[in-house]
Amino acid sequence: MSSTTKKTLAILLAVLTVLSAAPSALLSADEKHVSVYSPVAIYTLPVLDRAGREYVGLLELLEPLGRVRTQSEGWRWRLRYNAVDAEFVAGSTRARIRGRDFDFIAPFLLENSRGLVPLSSLSGFLPRFLGAPVNFRESARRLFVGDVGIQISFQLDASTPPRLAVNFSAPVNPTISTEPGKLRMIFKVVSPGSQSISFDNQVITHASYSENNGDAELDVAANEPLLASFSNDRRTIIVSAPQTAAAPNVVGTGPQNPAQAPPLSAPGANIAPGNANSNANINVHRVLAVVDPAHGGEERGAALTDKLAEKDVTLGFARLLRHELEMRGFAVALLRDGDTTSTLDQRAAAANVLRAGIYISLHAVAQGSGARVYTALLPVEGTSKGVFHAWNVAQAPSLPVSRIVSAAIVAEMQKREFRVQGSSASLRPLNNVFMPAVAVELAPGANGVADLTSANYQQRAASAIANALASVRDRLGVQQ
Ligand SMILES: [Zn+2]
Repeated sequence: MSSTTKKTLAILLAVLTVLSAAPSALLSADEKHVSVYSPVAIYTLPVLDRAGREYVGLLELLEPLGRVRTQSEGWRWRLRYNAVDAEFVAGSTRARIRGRDFDFIAPFLLENSRGLVPLSSLSGFLPRFLGAPVNFRESARRLFVGDVGIQISFQLDASTPPRLAVNFSAPVNPTISTEPGKLRMIFKVVSPGSQSISFDNQVITHASYSENNGDAELDVAANEPLLASFSNDRRTIIVSAPQTAAAPNVVGTGPQNPAQAPPLSAPGANIAPGNANSNANINVHRVLAVVDPAHGGEERGAALTDKLAEKDVTLGFARLLRHELEMRGFAVALLRDGDTTSTLDQRAAAANVLRAGIYISLHAVAQGSGARVYTALLPVEGTSKGVFHAWNVAQAPSLPVSRIVSAAIVAEMQKREFRVQGSSASLRPLNNVFMPAVAVELAPGANGVADLTSANYQQRAASAIANALASVRDRLGVQQ
């Protein structure tokens, strides 16, 4: 009966922008800074207090986003960003940007040829330079440029028992906890603001979204205990109220139907309500591995033969590795699952946003034999300039674990008779990811370059890597 009366009420709730709060963690907590999130770079800049107002250096702000040149001449400061010209005058609130006047909230400042602009004016003038919308959340000092962030939508299946599907546009890794009448998910994210939605349901009554201290929190309220499980590669969290009167044959009607969503395979992975530590935060102990098939699209990588591009080998290899890892209980996200282009910064940013437990970049070469496993070789402190240093050494805290992972991969591949060697290299984007990170470069075996496209050969390598990661799984942990 329940299946015939089942009614799927699809509610597109709200579009919330969420993103990792990671970059600011690298700077000391008492230093004021602004974090910038854009599709090409994620970075943090110091904020300066001048005459009771907050300022930021304009050159530093624009440099990671495009080509910038500046020229100062007495009181005047000229800046060219890509093809956009602007002129500022020290001590004046009026500037000329892209041929039109712009009035700042407080005067433009020039200090040692460094132009400073008031933070409060960023959302006003930046779109003129960038040609893209910006969303500046001033109280949180977070600046979003263009289309970044993860979208969330909700879908309530009002059958008995009810199920709420929370869909994300990218995989997520929240900490989930329960307390009477409530299921709480904490994301290392921010959103454009607080939102709340009520459901026309007796059991699951509403969901609310809020921001506290850099984290984002999504609470689902109900009159009965709730369970949560992941599906769809961690892009959907299914919230259900299993104790509601039984509904034996809920039939799925589509790929997103919660009835088809497999629960997490690990025992105890579902968050059971009402137990002794129900108020404690319970992590879901399933490690997310981000697998990055290097190169792609226009950027073909090495020419392994006349016809064979590295980008194609890395993609096939990545898919095999995904399968091997999934069989060992990992959640896996491929940074590309097709012939697409991304920059190294985008790859690092994607891994960081996903808050993965491990990042593995895959390359292939025609020379040599076997494989090489790399960990990051970080720049020496002080050699890179100022605020960008943090981005270049993001890997530092995780490097010891990265080396453990590398050693495990070397050992497992040797067991399978690969000639393999571990080393460090200043290989981007390893430097820029926060979690343990390695790069594996696959070289031919006994059959020469033909091995690189051999499913058998790739399979041996992938299963060795997956075994190695499984053997150090406890070290990878789920970040909070
Ligand atoms: Zn490569």
